[in-house]
Amino acid sequence: MAKRLHVRLFATLFCLLLAPAAGPGPAGVLDAQDRPIRAMVLTGQNNHGWQVLSEHYRSILEETGLFEVDVVTSPPRGADMSGFAPAFSDYDVVVLEYNGDMWPAPVRESFERYMLNGGGLVYGHAVNHTFADWPAFNEMIGFGAWGGRDERHGPFVKYRNGRLFLDHTPGHAGECVDPHEYPVVTREPDHPIMRGLPRVWLHGTDELYSNQRGPAKNLTILATAWSDPAREAHWGVRTHGTGDDEPMVHTVRYGRGRIVGTAMGHVDGGAAPGSGPWPAIECVGFITLIQRAAEWAATGDVTQPVPDDFPTAAGVSLR
Ligand code: ZN
Repeated sequence: MAKRLHVRLFATLFCLLLAPAAGPGPAGVLDAQDRPIRAMVLTGQNNHGWQVLSEHYRSILEETGLFEVDVVTSPPRGADMSGFAPAFSDYDVVVLEYNGDMWPAPVRESFERYMLNGGGLVYGHAVNHTFADWPAFNEMIGFGAWGGRDERHGPFVKYRNGRLFLDHTPGHAGECVDPHEYPVVTREPDHPIMRGLPRVWLHGTDELYSNQRGPAKNLTILATAWSDPAREAHWGVRTHGTGDDEPMVHTVRYGRGRIVGTAMGHVDGGAAPGSGPWPAIECVGFITLIQRAAEWAATGDVTQPVPDDFPTAAGVSLR
């Protein structure tokens, strides 16, 4: 991060000195021209198909031409983690695809420092299950589900009457409406990640997470999806959808760090690379959101255009 900051400061000074009337451009534009954004895909444990997802994340980030990607793999579940020490500060953004054993204290402390100092974090779907007993992580992700989460972890996070709504009713966090295609509704059209996207678009067949809860500090909901009470739900205490607009994409500010989470992106546990189809992650909406989220988390801006094959309200679009 120090090198990036240095480059950014120098570029800003340069612009101020030579073109005081125009002023500096967006930091993201300068950064994109200076060098690739360094992204770490961090994976190795998940009850979902992390082997498929980590490769997918690497591939869709690299295809933008903006990112240089390293995939870092943790020891397997139950193995000794004492040698596990990801070099967070070498990266502009961490794309987390992990739901598993607690990291050792030095790794947790290193990650907290990285985020407080302006790091970036992007994650999807079941990553919101992990680390329920790590308070700083719960603050970073804003809200999560399962892993023993309940009212002690914070309110249910909902979207009602056009705004964020925090429901302090006690209860288990995490319901999973059975996979189906569902409309995703943009709630912050002026946010750099959402700029130019349709107000409503149809997401490829995916689970629909509902009743997530957490500290919900410094949180902005970018998009929601309606949890249909007529549809069956599993893995929680409810048998059907909640009838609420549930957060599907959101951001959190943690110190100087930027976080983007999405509830979308189901791939079956144990799925091997090359298996599929996996419409939840082959959805062009999901792909575009991850690509834009990673740029925003790293730089604070988005320079990528909306692709021509972005889904519409009438139909899904898969790649
Ligand atoms: Zn899932």
